Amino acid sequence: MNPKKILLSFTFILVTAFGISSCDDGINIFSDADDVQLGLEVSTEINNNSAEYPIYNSDKSLKNYIVNNIFNEILASPKVAKKNIYKYQLEIVDNDSILNAFALPGGPVYVYTGLLKYLDSEAALAGVLGHEIAHAERRHATQRMTQYYGISVLFSLILGENPSQLAEIAANLFVGLAFLGNSRANEDESDEYSITYLRDTRFYPGGVKFFFEKLQADGLVTGGSGLETFFSTHPDPISRITTANQRIQTLGLPQYRFSDNGTGIFRDEYQANIRSKLP
Ligand SMILES: [Zn+2]
Repeated sequence: MNPKKILLSFTFILVTAFGISSCDDGINIFSDADDVQLGLEVSTEINNNSAEYPIYNSDKSLKNYIVNNIFNEILASPKVAKKNIYKYQLEIVDNDSILNAFALPGGPVYVYTGLLKYLDSEAALAGVLGHEIAHAERRHATQRMTQYYGISVLFSLILGENPSQLAEIAANLFVGLAFLGNSRANEDESDEYSITYLRDTRFYPGGVKFFFEKLQADGLVTGGSGLETFFSTHPDPISRITTANQRIQTLGLPQYRFSDNGTGIFRDEYQANIRSKLP
């Protein structure tokens, strides 16, 4: 990673992001439009990088099913406030060895086939997607960029710099984002919002913890499994299960585990419509 190149990318962003706005949880020098623009540039870069991010296209009905029956249903929640501002879309990355998903600023969400093959209910997938949508809605990436670089640094950077190569900028930005990672507080907030969003859907609201429960049951929580897992930057699955259970109890919802088959879990549907479409 070349720090100068990353700084250069932020210079460009700042040109379009001069308004300093503060929201509930901190200062963000970027606007919603900047989040959308950033997400667009980085997603273009990702979609053109088939070596690292091979987009799954073998069976289009897989993505269609997830988008129509899960992703869009979460977005329909009134609590997803920026759905008309952000460009929410889903892509599947064809890599069975990665149990992960990620969101870009402004709406693009990516989920790996490795994670799709590991999960075993629609509620579990809905929990992950709700979590990723929350990262975009809560603007964790641009908030983090604001904190990391500091306003004074960003202002000084615009002097004398004139970046022009957008593709390079987007690539470097993405490297920068990956480098920074999400904070524990961001992860916790996204877990909380996932529950909030899913309460407006047909899915069990606690689905976000199912992945961690399954990891734990499979003995993959402690020690290096060699797998790159969902939220690997802050792997604290046990406490996240505990926190989710507390929230579920406070809300008066049933305490289902990942292996249960209660209302809103949709295990058979996942098998028939998602898992069976992957080799
Ligand atoms: Zn996350």
